[in-house]
Amino acid sequence: MISKKKDIRALSKKEIRDFFEGIGDKAYRGNQVYEWLWTKGAHHFEDMTNISKDKRILLQEHFVINHIEVDSIQKSKDGTIKNAVKLHDGLIVESVLIPTKTRTTACVSSQVGCSLDCKFCATARLKKMRNLNPDEIFDQVMAIDKESRLYHSRPLSNVVFMGMGEPLMNYKNVINAIEKITSKEGLGMSPKRITLSTSGVPKMIKKLADDKVKFNLAVSLHSAIQETREQIMPFADKLNLKDLLESLIYWYTKTKRRITYEYIIWEGINDNDDHIDAFLRYCKKVPCKVNLIEYNSIDDDDFKQASTKSIEAYINALEKNRIPVTVRRSRGKDIDAACGQLANKH
Ligand code: SAH
Repeated sequence: MISKKKDIRALSKKEIRDFFEGIGDKAYRGNQVYEWLWTKGAHHFEDMTNISKDKRILLQEHFVINHIEVDSIQKSKDGTIKNAVKLHDGLIVESVLIPTKTRTTACVSSQVGCSLDCKFCATARLKKMRNLNPDEIFDQVMAIDKESRLYHSRPLSNVVFMGMGEPLMNYKNVINAIEKITSKEGLGMSPKRITLSTSGVPKMIKKLADDKVKFNLAVSLHSAIQETREQIMPFADKLNLKDLLESLIYWYTKTKRRITYEYIIWEGINDNDDHIDAFLRYCKKVPCKVNLIEYNSIDDDDFKQASTKSIEAYINALEKNRIPVTVRRSRGKDIDAACGQLANKH
């Protein structure tokens, strides 16, 4: 049953301090509770051992800590781990731990389902059910940090918002979660180690720049030709390439940080010279680098990974124009944990 009590993690530090003052206690008790919640990731008031038992009971009478539960984990033969994460209301999202030689990256979800409608993405088929709260995003990161220590003997090093959902359609909560992940009172991770990936919401990209965020921005472009982009990402008729470009120029002018374009090459869709030329023109407008993503099949005959030759044509053209390009190999494919495969199949 869902409790009617207020979730204490929706309160600011000041509000928790005020609560303690309000009951005739010291305000600094609020700092201690805040530290339990966000530095130590406590999910139960009983765990707050430097708070007296009476106060813990009082907290319990007033508040709840709605927290996630890792419902099941799946391990890939390449070391990738997929968590099915149960939210307090029973809904499920997925997050992924991706290990490399030197890093552990957490790929986290920002929505249950997704607001957008990319034809090639399994999550899009789920439709959006709700936004995740800051604490639900934070908890995914904490859970993967714990798994990284347990299975890979090192702490989590990076976070990417490339799980389920469109992070810029849940702007406030995502920003709030990143504040908790980066703040000294939270995980204390450098924002340079965090990447937000968006399908491209121009208004919100400008807002990111205005809000002077310090993390990295990746844009899932996939085509620099408006007509094609609308076919594969129908929302792009409203959020079009021209406005997107304008917002990216704005982002770069304000932040001086280059953008990463994520790009999948499909047979018969964007594996031709017109697409390469359009992409190059787009890339030259703002400092950027390119991440070519391997397509992960989601059982749709319309989409098929392009040939190695076509991919090489892109790489050659980009390199000739001195645009840094990397090819991202998929991880965790055998457990449906790769990009675009998160769909709560179980
Ligand atoms: N909504 C955000 C973040 C989630 S998707 C965004 O679109 O960026 C994370 C990345 O996976 C995006 O670049 C997306 O285009 C890509 N992706 C989606 N479906 C995929 C698939 N089937 N195979 C490979 N990548 C996919």
